[in-house]
Amino acid sequence: MQKDKQENNLKKPLGKKINWFYILLLAFFLIQFSTYWNSPEEISWSKFELEILSKDLVGHIEVVNKERVEVFLNSEKIAQEEHPEWLKKTRGPQFYFTIGSVETFENKLASVQEKYQLSNLPEIKYITRTNWIGNILAWMLPLVIIVLLWYYMFSLSGRMGGRGGASPFDFGKSRPTLFDQTKKNKITFDNVAGLEEAKVEVQEIVSFLKDPGFYTRLGAKIPKGVILVGPPGTGKTLLAKAVAGEAQVPFFHISGSEFVEMFVGVGASRVRDLFKKAKAKAPSIIFIDEIDAIGRARGSALSMRSNDERESTLNQLLAEMDGFGTNTGVIVLAATNRADVLDKALLRPGRFDRHIYLELPSRTERLAIFKVHLKPLILASDIEVEVLAAQTPGFSGADIANICNEAALIAARRKKDAIEMKDFMEATDRIISGLEKKSKIISDEEKKIIAFHEAGHATVSWFLEHADELMKVSIVPRGKSLGSAWYLPEEQQLYTRAQFMDRLCTALGGRAAEELVFGEVSSGALDDLEKVTKQAYMMVTYYGFSDKLGNTSFYDSSGQYEQSLQKPYSEATAELIDLEVRRLVDSAYAKAKTILAQHRKALKELAELLIQKEVVVKEDLEAILGKRPASTNDKSLTIAS
Ligand code: ADP
Ligand code: ZN
Repeated sequence: MQKDKQENNLKKPLGKKINWFYILLLAFFLIQFSTYWNSPEEISWSKFELEILSKDLVGHIEVVNKERVEVFLNSEKIAQEEHPEWLKKTRGPQFYFTIGSVETFENKLASVQEKYQLSNLPEIKYITRTNWIGNILAWMLPLVIIVLLWYYMFSLSGRMGGRGGASPFDFGKSRPTLFDQTKKNKITFDNVAGLEEAKVEVQEIVSFLKDPGFYTRLGAKIPKGVILVGPPGTGKTLLAKAVAGEAQVPFFHISGSEFVEMFVGVGASRVRDLFKKAKAKAPSIIFIDEIDAIGRARGSALSMRSNDERESTLNQLLAEMDGFGTNTGVIVLAATNRADVLDKALLRPGRFDRHIYLELPSRTERLAIFKVHLKPLILASDIEVEVLAAQTPGFSGADIANICNEAALIAARRKKDAIEMKDFMEATDRIISGLEKKSKIISDEEKKIIAFHEAGHATVSWFLEHADELMKVSIVPRGKSLGSAWYLPEEQQLYTRAQFMDRLCTALGGRAAEELVFGEVSSGALDDLEKVTKQAYMMVTYYGFSDKLGNTSFYDSSGQYEQSLQKPYSEATAELIDLEVRRLVDSAYAKAKTILAQHRKALKELAELLIQKEVVVKEDLEAILGKRPASTNDKSLTIAS
């Protein structure tokens, strides 16, 4: 994602708004400071009596709030005294002390007057003083805390929505990211590799945005909404940005989940605000990522659990789309990875009536994507882009971008001057199955089991006609797995029943080897079994591969079954399905064991080599198992049997 570099947040910095707070704080400290300098010295009663009162130096006395006595000296008299430091504070009070009660204080004074035979007592004023600052603080503090909490909460919810630093004042506003396409780093169709058909489709949008008059002069209506459908990382965002870049129009990027907040009404007001912003900058493009977050079908079992908020947001979105005329110049692009869950109302004519399907890139497309992402890198001469593309079936554009970056990081870490093929291989492995975990402690006994398990997978697949081509076997723990076999899947659109069976068989090869060699099985086959079970159920219930069930499929492309609690078949059929699945898995397992029994010597050799080398590549495999009997290349697809 290139978001970080190119985003240009619309929101003004928050800092200016709270400057008054600092000013207040400063004033508070200044007041504290000055009162500290002016503050009188504390004095004990006996000292006061002996040194001040008895010598009749007091000008007057103030009793504050019936608890504090402040003494103001008579400045004329103290000038003749031997205490020059008292003169420093001419304004007084020079001393203070606290008293228990006014009565005892007065009594004490009277006794002193008697004792020293003073002609008259100093004048006493009783005053009440309010501590303004203390009072203000007392009621401001909770308020400040509440406000701070509020800020914190909103900035948190803002961050969860993908954008940081939200202010509570624009809570109801949308916070789209605006891309400045006039900058150097703008994205064009050149940045998008592959996706040729999709590019052709969006080309029309580009030309409309550039010259709307060309279409509207004939009375044509321009699409308002286009949905890009495809798995994550296939370049939906990239394509939308490229459209904006080609047409040189502003691009508002927002994620569907940002509309769905915890308060009712916020989503709708954000939609309104977003369209307002986009219209102000028309012609422009709004891109709503993850539109399924708001656009899921209403009233279905799933959405009943969630809130009405999403519904009102969706309604607002529909209203906005209906509201603006075809010639406003705002085009809404939206992305999702599931078009089937979207509300039908969203897909009606005049709304998102165009769908562009993006798929995982084919081999040639991957080649093109690699070329785009290799361009900025410094490469060694041994890089073979073709091999990279061939080795990454099932990878999305984002995965490929990730590999390129990862390879560069690996090379940099090793202080190389250029990125070598080896770094790309390692990056690919890492992205497929996680980091190598060299630190994981594996006992020799476990290592032996893992080696035989992986050798089992390898051997079985080697002798199966339809299994994928095996590249490499490893028993280095990575991510969650303890060992793995790397295959190079054939890219095809159709798979026959025989191919499915061979996959089941390969997946069971690990466990079969364990049973055959050790007479005991381990928990290491968990992932294999999970895969096998899912696939077998798919074969029986979706593809109609079971003779007993015949050509029926319980696959549901409309997504209705998944919401209903009832199964679409009878108890008897359910039982039959379970039996058929069991039969498939059992027969695949039997076949795997037969193959392993036939090639037991090779299995052992391979496992021992694995224990010794940890990673075994195709050449080693050929040395032990011989050339693969059924070469994958001359495999012909038979559809009807
Ligand atoms: P999506 O929105 O479909 O999840 P993105 O558009 O965000 O995927 O793609 C993520 C990144 O993957 C892009 O920024 C780009 O680097 C890379 N990428 C994906 N598809 C392509 C492609 N066809 N050509 C070049 N780069 C691609
Ligand atoms: Zn396994």
